[in-house]
Amino acid sequence: MVKITIDGKQYEVENNLTIIQAAKQNGIHIPHFCWHPHLSVSGNCRVCLVEVEKMPKLVIACSTQVAEGMVVNTNSERVVQARNAVLEFILINHPLDCPICDEAGECKLQDYAYKYSVGQSRFDFEKVRKPKRVELGPNVMLDTERCIMCSRCIRFCDEVAKKPQLTFTQRGDHVELTTFPGEQLDNPYSMNVIELCPVGALTSRDFRFKARVWDMSSTDTVCVGCARGCNMKMWVRNNEVLRLTPRNNPAVNDYWMCDYGRLNTFKHVNAANRIKAPMVRKDGRLVEVGWDEAIAKVGFELKNFKKNEIAALGSAYSTNEDNYLLTKLMNHLGVKRIDFVPHIRKGEQDDLLIREDKTPNSVGAREVGVRPESAEFGFASILNEIKAGNIKALYVIDDDIAADPVIADALLKLDFLVVHASNENETIKFADVVLASSTYAEKYGTFTNFQGRVQRNKPAISTLEHDRILDGMALSRLDKFGAPNDRWTTGLKRDTRASWRILNSIAAVMGAKWKYNSCEDVFNEIASTISSFKGLSFLKIGTGGAMLNKNKETVTVKS
Ligand code: SF4
Ligand code: SF4
Repeated sequence: MVKITIDGKQYEVENNLTIIQAAKQNGIHIPHFCWHPHLSVSGNCRVCLVEVEKMPKLVIACSTQVAEGMVVNTNSERVVQARNAVLEFILINHPLDCPICDEAGECKLQDYAYKYSVGQSRFDFEKVRKPKRVELGPNVMLDTERCIMCSRCIRFCDEVAKKPQLTFTQRGDHVELTTFPGEQLDNPYSMNVIELCPVGALTSRDFRFKARVWDMSSTDTVCVGCARGCNMKMWVRNNEVLRLTPRNNPAVNDYWMCDYGRLNTFKHVNAANRIKAPMVRKDGRLVEVGWDEAIAKVGFELKNFKKNEIAALGSAYSTNEDNYLLTKLMNHLGVKRIDFVPHIRKGEQDDLLIREDKTPNSVGAREVGVRPESAEFGFASILNEIKAGNIKALYVIDDDIAADPVIADALLKLDFLVVHASNENETIKFADVVLASSTYAEKYGTFTNFQGRVQRNKPAISTLEHDRILDGMALSRLDKFGAPNDRWTTGLKRDTRASWRILNSIAAVMGAKWKYNSCEDVFNEIASTISSFKGLSFLKIGTGGAMLNKNKETVTVKS
């Protein structure tokens, strides 16, 4: 450890840090474009210049190591002048097109120009013209004129994605970012360069020009594209999800997400094939009905079957709370056959983030009880027993199991099929009752990732269910759940419900006496009855997650 002074205040820091790292650790922001905590140091933007006593020239904070007794000034007159000169230099050729730039509102150059420059340029010549709207790869667009040559995108491809696809060509003010000959920016993590780019040079081909950043709200949640559960922000305008961006969590995903997760895990939320209300099959057709009728129908029909004629399939796409209450309902009915269908894609895994298990919660589903007591009650056996006509009623939550033709074939044999589904799919074609469930973007809940880390999922868009609940809640209670913002009141709202809440209603008509007012109530019961969750709470999980207890012994959920 060494003692250093920054802007008149003394700090004790590790001696292997650079000035910018030491400052960051102590809450002092030194402006920077090219430096990033998870990339190598390139030291080329020069905006992090600081003054160090006894050093004749200003030094760059990103590559100067701290030393005992070092006295650093980040705001002396020399520093302010130099920073202003660097910004003026960068802006010589940067187009002043903020009003039409996708990055406006979240652009480092725009922010620093407001904060640190004098707002005037002495440059009186034509700016250098470079290619605009360059399709760098399938997911990323480049505006070469906006590039400030920080090289973050190049270093990311080399060092993190391990796909050296980008480089600079030419010299001086004619330097251009481009791909290597014959290459595209095309790798599973290519879109991370969009957030890394401190200006609007790199934009998402999927999101560009869809919304201004100040028109959207963002919610901290987790990706459901695989068992990693990358921490992310979900961006919404008018109750429509428009983009997903990574959220830093060193224990899970650092600063990154994969392109698949970004692009393929939210479009179903906005899709035209959303199921808008519960449906019951009448005269061979699924007909929209009210919630009370659908729930009464399920309760009435299930009572007609013996407990060994019923089976349930939970879902590794669903939350711990949904799966827990399915287990509890089946315990209440005395049903032993319960499992879920795994979605493993062998070989589709790498050393950075992507997992073979393409579901967010197979660990959690097992942990809260969606697991057969023995193989005799497992998924393969359930399928065989349906084919043999021994299982006559099946309860399925949030998984399109009939996408597999072998399973679809078996479903034809059932007398009664209940399905929770958010979108039209193959499985509802066989269903007698379809219960319109909320997607992960519309509900509270927890997922347990492959590491055994329990992470919270929060609603970014609202449903009529939220309106009903929020109407009856005091403001203090709303705070606990994350106060809804004004965007919750606009846009299309669907009459869907979280699966745990649907199961709670089914249990009520089947004689169970449960008392859950919120998802948190369900989680608290999980934490008090399942030893691996002991000691956890929504508060403890927070925004970064918390690990399951290591020395756990699993207990069976009681009805
Ligand atoms: S495109 Fe963006 S990230 Fe890449 S070098 Fe230019 S400014 Fe930096
Ligand atoms: S690695 Fe998995 S969890 Fe992370 S962004 Fe990709 S799909 Fe989502």
